[in-house]
Amino acid sequence: MMKTGTSEPHILPRSAHPISRKDIDPDALKVLYRLHRSGFKAYLVGGAVRDLLLGKKPKDFDVATDARPGQIKKLFANCFLIGRRFRLAHIRFKGGKIIEVATFRREPHELDEPEADKNNTFGTPMEDAFRRDITINALFYDIGNFSIIDYVGGLEDIRQRRVCIVGDPSVRYTEDPVRMWRVIRYASRQNFSIEEETARAIEIHRELLATSSGSRLFEELNKDILSGFSTPFFRMMASYHMLGVILGGIGKKVEQTHGMMTALLRLLETLDAASRKGDGVSQNIAYSILFWPWVQGILREKGSLAGDRMKLLADEFMAASMPIILPKVLRTNVIHTLYILDRMMNGMRTGRMKWMLTKRAHYPDAAVLFSLLEYGHINQGQDPFLHAFRMKYPDHAGERKEKVQRKRRRRYRKSSKHQVEASGREAAR
Ligand code: ATP
Ligand code: MG
Repeated sequence: MMKTGTSEPHILPRSAHPISRKDIDPDALKVLYRLHRSGFKAYLVGGAVRDLLLGKKPKDFDVATDARPGQIKKLFANCFLIGRRFRLAHIRFKGGKIIEVATFRREPHELDEPEADKNNTFGTPMEDAFRRDITINALFYDIGNFSIIDYVGGLEDIRQRRVCIVGDPSVRYTEDPVRMWRVIRYASRQNFSIEEETARAIEIHRELLATSSGSRLFEELNKDILSGFSTPFFRMMASYHMLGVILGGIGKKVEQTHGMMTALLRLLETLDAASRKGDGVSQNIAYSILFWPWVQGILREKGSLAGDRMKLLADEFMAASMPIILPKVLRTNVIHTLYILDRMMNGMRTGRMKWMLTKRAHYPDAAVLFSLLEYGHINQGQDPFLHAFRMKYPDHAGERKEKVQRKRRRRYRKSSKHQVEASGREAAR
């Protein structure tokens, strides 16, 4: 069922929908009212309307209007215009809160003058609805009469609990392949189905996602990995073979190896529980979880032959040629953390541990991961690895022996003329 740009909107009056002004952020209301009183159209748009209709608390409240950026700026002393290609207004409030106000716009047409592209492509409310990604994200709440305005069938899709692309899916995915990702994001988060053509076109166009900017893909993944809904998200991504597209060889391997995928989903459940509880899960922890099943596979396969396991992992990451670009620091952190985690797991099996590792900067993160893996939650306070190790190996003779050896080595170094060189090497690690 294709949504075209010529229909009259379906308007739901206040009496026919549940959105109440008391559920709307008071600062967003102020912005809406001031625009409206100044004679402009003022709509609450996007995720806020969707979430309010679903009975969820919106993350942010975005506003759309027919006022131009310059006109918006004149109305609000606390207004800052941002963005070069498309100018948006940010109205700043106490506590760092920002209400984003955008002038209605349309998708630039191929026939547009090249000059027009550089400037704002303002549009009508209808055009603004039709440039949006999915129908449930394209609803407007009109502060003028408290009605909901629906140009694209979003209300019906909310009722049917389904995600449907606005317009022709092939065209919309080709314009911006990240929309395929967003379809999967909202379907998996809300446990909605995906409308048939919207879904079928993903199968056809999924490889296009690899052509999107690697840093944009990383930003998108950040939103999902720490959303508290990473389990359904990754499950659905895998079912569309999208992990192979965004994570290259790593994603393909995980998707195609049943054991890895089930291990990953189990770990993600723990991650989601921790994120939802507000346990302050770091990016490093989240990404370490994502790569752990694959890293385990690599180490099992090639670890015993490799002299340097850390280098092995770094090389394998490079060889996977992921379209997504992880910042170098994050990749290094993940490798170091998982290297230590692997040594911990090995230590638990054998009773032997490289205790030197406890001094490494990534040890605390590895211990948190250990806790998540072993106990399913983050153990605050005592070092969960040390605790578990001592429970299993009460005399932990190895721990003491290595400490003694290390002290001896240190003494030797101090008296050695190579002292500077040796400590330099240690610092460089
Ligand atoms: P949330 O922020 O809760 O994930 P949201 O709907 O607010 O959900 P945003 O990424 O903040 O999502 O985007 C705001 C709105 O902008 C969306 O609701 C959608 O209408 C529109 N939008 C965002 N990305 C795209 C895109 N790639 N193509 C078309 N429209 C988009
Ligand atoms: Mg948003």
